[in-house]
Parts: sequence; C-alpha cells; structure tokens
Amino acid sequence: MKVIGLLGGMSWESSAEYYRIINQTVRERLGGLHSAECLMWSFDFARIEALQHAGQWEAATAELVAAARRLERGGADFLLICTNTMHRMADEVQAAVSLPLLHIADPTAEKIKAAGFRTVGLLGTAFTMEQAFYRGRLEDRHGLAVLVPDDAQRAEVHRVIYEELVQGKVVDRSRAAYRAVIAALVARGAEAIILGCTEIMLLVGPEDSAVPLFDTTAIHAEAAVDKALEA
Ligand code: GLU
Repeated sequence: MKVIGLLGGMSWESSAEYYRIINQTVRERLGGLHSAECLMWSFDFARIEALQHAGQWEAATAELVAAARRLERGGADFLLICTNTMHRMADEVQAAVSLPLLHIADPTAEKIKAAGFRTVGLLGTAFTMEQAFYRGRLEDRHGLAVLVPDDAQRAEVHRVIYEELVQGKVVDRSRAAYRAVIAALVARGAEAIILGCTEIMLLVGPEDSAVPLFDTTAIHAEAAVDKALEA
C-alpha cells in the first residue's frame, strides 16, 4: 500500500471526511482490520483564509509548498490537496516536490464523462467558480462545458462556505438557497452538478438536486485509495 499524503485543514471539517472516506474505502477493498497508511499536514485555516481573501496567493502558495515538502520528508508516496480552491497553486506545489499530485478535478471529470455528461454546473468558492485554474482544467483538459451561478448566487454560495460550512455550521435556510442555485443551473442546461468545494457535501445530498451530484470530497478520497492500492 502506498502512503497517502494529505494537505488538509482547509477546512478540518472536510479533512475529517477525507480521513473517514479513505479509511472506510480501504476497509471495503481489503477487508478485515485494514486501514489506510497516510500522513496529513493540517493547516490553521484562519491563516490560509486571510491570505486568500487578501489576494496574497504567493504567500499562500509558499505555505502549501512548505507543507508538501514536509509530507515528502515524512515519507508520503503521493499528495492530495484536500480543497478545490487551493488547487489554484497545484502546479507550483507539483513543481516543488518529486511526488505525484493527484489533482481533484481529474477524477471528478473522469467520473462525469464516464456517466455520459458533458454540461456541468459548478458550485464552490468564488475563487473556484470565477478563476480559470479550475474551470479551465475541466474545459480544456476534459472537454466539459461548465456553467456557474449568476453573480448574486455565487456570492451566496461563497458566503455559506466561509461563514458556515468551514465552521461546521449546517443551516437549513442555506440548504434551501443551494437547492435554488442548483435548480437554476439545471434550468440553464446543467446535466450534473459538481460540488466543487469539499465542505458542500455536509449541506446538500442527492435529494436536493434533480440531476446527479458529483461530490469532489468523496471522488478525490476514493481516487486516493485507488492509487494507494494500485500494483
Ligand atoms: N474546502 C473548500 C474548497 O474545497 C474551501 C476552503 C478553502 O478555501 O480551501 O474549496
């Protein structure tokens, strides 16, 4: 079994889900008392969030690179960045270590294509929905057509992530707002919805959407197990 290196704590609410899903999946695959061999660096998210909202992406990149090197020194065989947003610096992190980085958008897009969908709605932080690093990868590398919510709905999706979900708050009113955002994307032609923020799965599930949801947390965690167990 390969050692999974996890860059976590962004937020720890979703890192806990990664840890649970990775271990559950290893148990399902190998049976008995098997569990995952993994290392996690867990950030103090307050520092990371402050850098994000100040637009200090170079400083944030330096933080992730330093943590990736720690995991490399610790013996990880490959790396996951346990947040969609911080894939903004995936290339810099990959360049700084000799370990492969398992990009969250790749197994997500593969699953969507395997299910036969081409037009997807994307929910995530404003950074993920608005900047090119994530949509661009889905569109250019994977040939998907990506729809994002309108301005007001993007602002609400972003607010709920930072004011509620990363703080472990699951609010019914926000679930209703997300349901409306999803319905609007479906009305515009989305055949599936990407939960492109690793905490959104805490708030919404299949019952909140008329089309299939692709949860990046579960997909990324399961892809890590595939890689850890490959021959
Ligand atoms: N976990 C979130 C994501 O997947 C948001 C927190 C962050 O900014 O890293 O994008």
